[in-house]
Amino acid sequence: MTKPTPFKVGEAYDTFADLLDHLMGVNLHHGYWADDTSDESFDVATTRLTDKLAGLLTIRPGDRLLDIGCGVGEPAIRLASAHDIEGVGISIAPGQVERANDRAAAAGLADRLSFQFADAMDLPFPDESFDLVWALESLHHMPDRWQVVREAARVLRPGGRMAIGDFSLRSVDGKPADASSCDLVRMGALKLLEVDDYQSNLRAAGLVPEAAEDVSDRTRPSWGKAAERFEAARELAEQHIGAEQFEVTLSRFRQFSAELQFEVTLSRFRQFSAEPSVGYVLLTARKPD
Ligand code: SAH
Repeated sequence: MTKPTPFKVGEAYDTFADLLDHLMGVNLHHGYWADDTSDESFDVATTRLTDKLAGLLTIRPGDRLLDIGCGVGEPAIRLASAHDIEGVGISIAPGQVERANDRAAAAGLADRLSFQFADAMDLPFPDESFDLVWALESLHHMPDRWQVVREAARVLRPGGRMAIGDFSLRSVDGKPADASSCDLVRMGALKLLEVDDYQSNLRAAGLVPEAAEDVSDRTRPSWGKAAERFEAARELAEQHIGAEQFEVTLSRFRQFSAELQFEVTLSRFRQFSAEPSVGYVLLTARKPD
């Protein structure tokens, strides 16, 4: 299977924006749930994951942030609202960039937060121009995560920090890490990495790994909950976008999946929640002074 190009990934996010809004809300990442049976809303749980990752950083007033893979801007808007910082977010999906800018303006942050179209593999920013580089659930899309980490290291100022939230591969109860029970991992659609691999590549890029928090047990319910929401969406579609429009979206989704040579199905989503080797890690690393 060939990995989709960045532009194809961006096109997918824009094409399925309605569906994603409905399934995920404005945070396009996993939730950090209070417990396995939590009936908290997606917004509460996904916002908590943003706050968890932010809590691993030292954020000072006036810091300049780069959000790599900004979605519709919510994590950066939250960071800029909570801290007196400025920044820029990038996405490979033009529709997201437009929405993120509108949302920042609506939040009264347009003077210090902006979003632009760019490919993380080749950042259009000068060396040493950011204090914080943030990549929450975006690196797994990149053709080469380490190229993006090297780019992040280049644009960080000495003393600046990178924060990452990503899926991971982990060994549980002393058993070897193996996620081949998940079709999408076996087919290469989702590449999972062990934390050690992350840390050695952060070091190779000139960064010093700091925090590494395995949050798998708290994020895992997200897969099943997203699948449940998808099932419920069919009924709700009548009220929101109309059953006919929902079918149109679904058939486009199927066509798109076929083009990318993998099909995201509900059962495949559930495989992730059933496989303990599929984890989620929050990482930070510092660029030496
Ligand atoms: N961090 C956001 C969005 C996560 S979804 C949030 O937590 O809400 C993944 C994001 O990565 C999308 O915005 C997608 O457009 C972006 N992305 C994927 N590949 C990219 C690339 N090569 N360059 C820039 N952004 C990319």
